[in-house]
Amino acid sequence: MISPRLRFAPSPTGYLHVGGARTALFNWLVARKLGGTFLLRVEDTDRARSTDESTQAIFDGLNWLGLDWDEDVVFQGANLPRHRADAERLLAAGKAYRCFCTPDELSERRAKAEAAGGAFAYDRRCDQLAHDDVARRVAAGAPFVLRFRVPDGETAWTDLVHGRIAFPHTDIDDFVILRSDGTPIYNHAVVSDDIAMGITLVMRGDDHISNTPKQILLYEALGATIPQFGHLPMIHGTDGKKLSKRHGATAVGDYQHLGILPEAMVNFLALLGWSPGGDFDEVMTREQLIAAFSTDGLLKKAAVFDPQKLEWMNGQHLAKMPIERVAALVAPKLVAAGLATADELAAKPEWLHSLLELLRVRSRLVDDIVRQAAPFFGDTVGYEPEAVAKQWKDPAALRALFASVRELVAAHAEWSSGSLEAAHRALAESKGLGAGKLFQPLRVALTGSGVSPGLFDVMVLLGRERTRTRLLAAEEYLRGLSTDA
Ligand code: GLU
Repeated sequence: MISPRLRFAPSPTGYLHVGGARTALFNWLVARKLGGTFLLRVEDTDRARSTDESTQAIFDGLNWLGLDWDEDVVFQGANLPRHRADAERLLAAGKAYRCFCTPDELSERRAKAEAAGGAFAYDRRCDQLAHDDVARRVAAGAPFVLRFRVPDGETAWTDLVHGRIAFPHTDIDDFVILRSDGTPIYNHAVVSDDIAMGITLVMRGDDHISNTPKQILLYEALGATIPQFGHLPMIHGTDGKKLSKRHGATAVGDYQHLGILPEAMVNFLALLGWSPGGDFDEVMTREQLIAAFSTDGLLKKAAVFDPQKLEWMNGQHLAKMPIERVAALVAPKLVAAGLATADELAAKPEWLHSLLELLRVRSRLVDDIVRQAAPFFGDTVGYEPEAVAKQWKDPAALRALFASVRELVAAHAEWSSGSLEAAHRALAESKGLGAGKLFQPLRVALTGSGVSPGLFDVMVLLGRERTRTRLLAAEEYLRGLSTDA
């Protein structure tokens, strides 16, 4: 495959589905890997169902994922004159014929065939019409469709995913290529466009396998080079059923709003139906994916969309990406949550980076970081009732203990996590307490919660003054709880 030309050809009749995004991604990866060209074609021929919002959602989704296309977007609807011309070329060459059977006649014959227990196939009666008869009907303005005359034999291809696939032509009846209103049927429009766009590899969902023999027949009839085909496995939910809304969000945009990073989504989608083989690290950047991608690694069996794995993957990317990028994602959310102003954050980038370093390894979603960041802002914290009930059982003793911590903090010279921890361990020991008996209540005083990052990392980020204020506030609160107040 030298410089392949590939395309993603969505119908703009809804949002960008994760299955569509996966198809786009695989096409994009092949193009980027082999120095090929990735094209976007919007299949908007279904006027009734296609919408501008949907077209925009497709652009937005692809842009968010970073799947850039290389040439102007092709709108299929604009190619109608060529679709017609190609169909008429087939008619002129005797490879297609006019069919005057009406929809009512056809459905009647279909019903009859089915009632007799058989499958309906077009019986070619209009292919038998005498030349004069056809000419007379056309002159009289009788409506007709164009049908492709399927020759005897079979059509086979070597699918990049499934290997050899063959369809005997007895299974393919003379299919319509142009409707009576002059608009093309899907298979014809796609082939006409793929030829015009110079597509050399078609990768799309498994659900198109039955269209491929018809399309190959059209390539042959139009005298065009047949591209390679690869049909990607379906995507199932964790219950093994075809992925649908029942399984949760299926739109790419939904994941964007849930705080999934585009690099995590790309990584996750890449592993739905592809594997680099052998032992490999599942967490890959876009560049690593391009380097590792090969159509040899495409899998046949249905892929499973596991949202928990996606979240895990997101956490992995969050932990590894440049901290500046994390800051750029989180800062606006901290501002929106009312924790700080943009100016305040901009004034202390190093502090913000240290805070994010601490929180990102404990987060799966950007919002997890924001939630955990709250105690690091503002003068006071709210105490979680469960944490208070569990860790602050002896208010009077704790007040005295916190007062000692306050003295320690005021006097302690080296404001580093290791040094603060050593000093607090010594303090606990001098009071005849296990370290946990000091650390856990202290954690509640500083963060309001029984869980937080390392206590002394928290202290370092809070700073001496704010640590002192938090201790005073806790002592005040404990005074209210004490019976001896
Ligand atoms: N518009 C078709 C779809 O969305 C394109 C199929 C193809 O790639 O040929 O399924």
